[in-house]
Formats: sequence, structure tokens, C-alpha cells
Amino acid sequence: MKIIVCIKQVPDTTDIKIDPETNRIIREGVEAIINPYDTYAIEEALRLKEKYGGETIVLSMGPPQAESALRGALSLGIDQGILLSDKDFAGSDTLATSYTLGQAIKKIGFDIIICGKEAMDGSTGQIGPELAETLGIPHIAYVSKVIEIKEKRLKVERMMEDHYEIFETSFPALITVTKEINEPRLPSLRGTLRAKKEKITAWNASDLKGEKERFGADGSPTWVIKVFRPEVRKQGIILEGNVSEIADKLYQELKKQNIL
Ligand SMILES: Cc1cc2nc3c(=O)[nH]c(=O)nc-3n(C[C@H](O)[C@H](O)[C@H](O)COP(=O)(O)OP(=O)(O)OC[C@H]3O[C@@H](n4cnc5c(N)ncnc54)[C@H](O)[C@@H]3O)c2cc1C
Repeated sequence: MKIIVCIKQVPDTTDIKIDPETNRIIREGVEAIINPYDTYAIEEALRLKEKYGGETIVLSMGPPQAESALRGALSLGIDQGILLSDKDFAGSDTLATSYTLGQAIKKIGFDIIICGKEAMDGSTGQIGPELAETLGIPHIAYVSKVIEIKEKRLKVERMMEDHYEIFETSFPALITVTKEINEPRLPSLRGTLRAKKEKITAWNASDLKGEKERFGADGSPTWVIKVFRPEVRKQGIILEGNVSEIADKLYQELKKQNIL
């Protein structure tokens, strides 16, 4: 069984800064980490390998620095890391990103693809489903438990807002996972040493088949018009006391603010 985990390197901050000229995230000078949801995807791949056997591969499209995210995954026990990096991939929207990842995945071969439910910076949650469409395979999003794999069929539980659903699909298939699925392990010393030495495979646009005009900015029909921070809401007031005191304070406050 060949399991591919798609991981994205994201800035390690909630204080994301946007370049007003390009409407893109400023990544320079900010420490980068593996997208937190992808750590659950990595852990699930490791658990599936431990239970059912097979091979695990992490794949990331990003700048050369994204190699450290792949090494991070190797330190946890993933077998192989592949980085897709090329100036031709720059400016990719979600369509071009999933197309590029799809071309690499066709080259690798696969049974199961695991993605995080969303990336902490872009947060569209589109890559998993779009990637499945690109490859023409079924996908199940928001998986919170892999129930079993039997005779090349995958049975999972998926988490919705107020209920759970059980799905079954044949291979090959793609799932996106939530943080409820497992508790990611920490790297071992042996794993960290191995990850430092291991070779990361690097592919550029010419290593992939596919239509070159579908990579990067050329293959990206989405244009970000404007990116802005939501207005910070004023802090609320907590009224204390018994019910009638609170009612009285609320009345006074509303009056003070000319609402009554
Ligand atoms: C017009 C436009 C131009 C853009 N230009 C740039 C640019 O120049 N540089 C730039 O960095 N971003 C750029 N972006 C953002 C880029 O498109 C997204 O970061 C990317 O497509 C992933 O989308 P997301 O962050 O919403 O991921 P989501 O869909 O929320 O991610 C879900 C899951 O998909 C997988 N995944 C996501 N991204 C990757 C990846 N790169 N490699 C492997 N797996 C992945 C992970 O498993 C992740 O958990 C641009 C976006 C637009 C719309």
C-alpha cells in the first residue's frame, strides 16, 4: 500500500502579514512549520503503515526552504520526501497547486492520499477535494477516524458539525483529516538523525508531465483582489451581580450608549 501525505509549510505565527502590493503572505523572516493539520495526516499515514504495511511518502510544493518540513516528516518515520519547487510554480492558486501536486502523484503512484483539512494560512480547504478531482478518484473530507482497511476498501468516520457519518470507498482514494483523528507523535532522536542524512527528492516543472501552462500564475484563474484584517471588535463588558442588579446595569449601559 502506497500512502502519500501532502504537507504544506506555513508561517509559525497567527500574526500573518500581507504584502499590500501583491496581496500575498509575507513569509520572509517568519519561522516556518509543518501546517498543524498535516501533522495529523502524517501520524495517520504512519499508523496505517504500522497496521497494514506499505510505504509512506510526503509531498510538498513550495520554495526550497520547504525541504525542512519534509525532513520534519522523515524524523517522525515517513519513508521518503519529495519537494516540488520551481519558479514556474510561483503564483499558484488552489487550482494550479492541486494540478501540480496531481502530476507529481501520478508519477509516484499511490493507493491512499492523505491531506490536512485545511492549511493554517490559506485556509481554503480546497486542495484535497481539487486534487481528488484532478486525479479522478473519490475523496472523503473531514475524516476523524479510519475504521478499517479491508480488501482494498477504506472505511472511515467523518465529522460534521452536529453528527458523524460513516463512509466506505475503494482504492485509490483521498481523505482529508481533522485533528480529532489521532495524537501526533514526537520525533525520536534516531528519527531526527536519520532525517538529517536522508536525501529529499526535488522535482521541477520539467520533471513533471502535464500542460506547462497549467502550472503557476499561468494556470491560476483566481485573482486575489484584496486581503485585509477584520476590524478588531471592541472588548465586551461583563456585568456582575444577581439577576435584578445585572438587569439594572444593562439598562443603564444601554441608556448611556443611547440605545434605549
Ligand atoms: C491568485 C493566487 C496566487 C497565489 N500565489 C501564491 C504565491 O505566489 N505563493 C504562495 O505561497 N501562495 C500563493 N497563493 C496561495 C496558494 O494558492 C495556496 O497557498 C495553496 O493553493 C494552498 O491553498 P490553501 O493554503 O488554502 O490550502 P488548503 O486547501 O486549506 O490545504 C488543505 C491541505 O492541502 C494540502 N496542501 C495545501 N497546500 C499544499 C502544498 N503547497 N503542498 C502540498 N500540500 C499542500 C495540505 O495537506 C493541506 O492541509 C496564491 C493564491 C492565489 C489565489
